[in-house]
Amino acid sequence: MKLIDLNPHGGIGANCTVCEVGGFRFAIDSGLHPKYAGKDSIPRHAVLDRDSLDFIILTHCHLDHLGSLPLLSREHQDAPVLMSYPSSVLARRMLSNSISVMKRQRNELNLTELPLYGRDDLTSLYDRVKILSIKRPFRLEKDGRAIDVVLHHAGHVAGAVSVEIKTPKERILFTGDILFDGSRTLDGAEPLLEKVDTLVTETTRGLSIREPSRQRESEMLNLLEESAKTLSRGGSVLIPVFALGRMQEMLSVLDDAFKRNALPKVPVFCSGLGMDLVNHFHEISKNTNRVRFNRKVLRSLGARPLPRKLEPGREPPMQGIYLVSSGMLVEHTPSYVMASSMLGDDRNSILFVGYCDPSTPGGQLLQSEPGTPFEFNAYNHIEPIRAKIRQFDLSGHADRDQLVAYAEKLAPKNIFLHHGDPEAREWFTNALEPIGAKIINPEPLQFYET
Ligand SMILES: [Zn+2]
Ligand SMILES: [Zn+2]
Repeated sequence: MKLIDLNPHGGIGANCTVCEVGGFRFAIDSGLHPKYAGKDSIPRHAVLDRDSLDFIILTHCHLDHLGSLPLLSREHQDAPVLMSYPSSVLARRMLSNSISVMKRQRNELNLTELPLYGRDDLTSLYDRVKILSIKRPFRLEKDGRAIDVVLHHAGHVAGAVSVEIKTPKERILFTGDILFDGSRTLDGAEPLLEKVDTLVTETTRGLSIREPSRQRESEMLNLLEESAKTLSRGGSVLIPVFALGRMQEMLSVLDDAFKRNALPKVPVFCSGLGMDLVNHFHEISKNTNRVRFNRKVLRSLGARPLPRKLEPGREPPMQGIYLVSSGMLVEHTPSYVMASSMLGDDRNSILFVGYCDPSTPGGQLLQSEPGTPFEFNAYNHIEPIRAKIRQFDLSGHADRDQLVAYAEKLAPKNIFLHHGDPEAREWFTNALEPIGAKIINPEPLQFYET
């Protein structure tokens, strides 16, 4: 097989992998880089000739995997776009939100190429979507050859899949973003457990060591405890989250905590997209028992939209829990605004619950010393770090040791490293060595052959 990573910046970002095997050429995912805007944020699709893909697969609906799918699909109009049922529901909401964000960025950042796609592109993309059942092979045929695509539950977020590709000669597995452990609202992965020739594995947590004392359940309890302390000293809590998945999980967790009186009753504020996605999660949970979510939590929590008048350095108008995206405090997002208004007050807490790229404002805040000044570049505003900053290990990605153990079970001859920072991939290169496979850490935009 041949593989090329079209994410020009490497690491985690505008994910898009193209693969050639058994006479077929296909792409997996086509995302947007969360740290860049406009043309800088998309994969290098131009490497591919127009209409040269036989099919496209979407692993899940986080924007780093989905955000530029309409562009890729527009250039390969005969390629069906294969995905799970929940992804087909969630993709619509995520992509229409993405158009709104790009329209806003057009003015804010003065990028005339935005939006990169419009409603018509979404309509034609949806015409090409083909929903696949999980674990049931889907066969594509061309010139007398056949290839099977099999999706496997990957945990991580509702609808997320690992992708198995089978030709008469080869079996390949792409883990996609994967979480083996279940959470309150979502079951964990049900991965393929047979031998493969080639494994393409995510490596997000290559640098994260999970301490035995910091398992998911206890981390969630610690998060609630820290929130309770903050509220009882009169402060507010900011929990930066991904709008897709983590926000709905946290809504369920908070609802449960209020009912148990584990938290003082305060208002819960949410940013708009996450609230809208609540309805989609509700819909999905009616069709699969792997996703457990009821939109009634919004009413039961009395969840409300963010207050309008938020300004850097000015306290939020009401004490409460602010559950807002983005999870990494990316500039110009609601969580970034909230952080700039809350950071300078030592009663408040900013509690991270997932991965933060070290170069994002969230990553930088986590590396900064308490008491030192922190700059909100987008507003030319500096605040001293007085609020309590903590990070809880509630990642949506598998622990690195779990991924190594998984790779051992699949006994691949080749392993491609994917979806991880350079240092994280380096850890995997060493840790996977005993398996005896050829380990490839692909440079962006270069073809590799096994
Ligand atoms: Zn993801
Ligand atoms: Zn991802």
